[in-house]
Amino acid sequence: MNLVLLGAPGAGKGTQAKIIMEKYGIPQISTGDMLREAVTKGTELGKKAREYMNQGKLVPDEIVVEIVRERLSQKDCEKGFILDGFPRTIAQAEALDRILEKMGKKINAVINVNVPEEEVIKRIVYRRTCKKCGAIYHLLYNPPKKESTCDKCGGELYQREDDREETVKERFRVYRKNTEPLIDYYKKRRIFFDVDGTKDVEGVKREVLNILEKIKR
Ligand code: AMP
Repeated sequence: MNLVLLGAPGAGKGTQAKIIMEKYGIPQISTGDMLREAVTKGTELGKKAREYMNQGKLVPDEIVVEIVRERLSQKDCEKGFILDGFPRTIAQAEALDRILEKMGKKINAVINVNVPEEEVIKRIVYRRTCKKCGAIYHLLYNPPKKESTCDKCGGELYQREDDREETVKERFRVYRKNTEPLIDYYKKRRIFFDVDGTKDVEGVKREVLNILEKIKR
């Protein structure tokens, strides 16, 4: 199954991607996670991406497209993959189409996790992420048992640099301008599905898994 998760920042794409990954055994490809890792390691890629990310801007298309092209060619993507946070522009979506066409593959479903902006802002400023395993928490709705510590691996929880309120607003502006047009791009094909992302994690999960069971048939 080859999937794309769409949605505003903080809509819950990452959380659902991890659920799908565990259930179906296909990898989550999060360009945001890969870029953050590069920034932490201080690689050439990280140095290029860092400023854009900290300002809530998009990293240039050529850079992210190359990361995804390379990642999709790896063996663990043969059975399928979940793209989380990519594509984010029409140019990226077109590049993805070309990459997949060359590989003889296509996207089976684009799932749009729909949440109003006010709700998403509330989520993001309370979001904490594990430095070690990437698990995601919310200080009010899904708090860790012990403050600042990951329940799953004991790693330290932190607030993403770009999850501060001012940067979140810019990420939203960028989302509306560049990423929202992808909804129409994919609606024109018959692979687009909307889910109500205001439900709790279990509720959204149920909707997502229903869609996946349908497209598997
Ligand atoms: P995310 O974790 O998906 O919210 O991504 C965090 C940041 O990484 C974004 O605000 C961008 O600066 C950058 N980024 C992640 N994915 C992409 C993408 N597909 N295109 C451009 N920039 C991206």
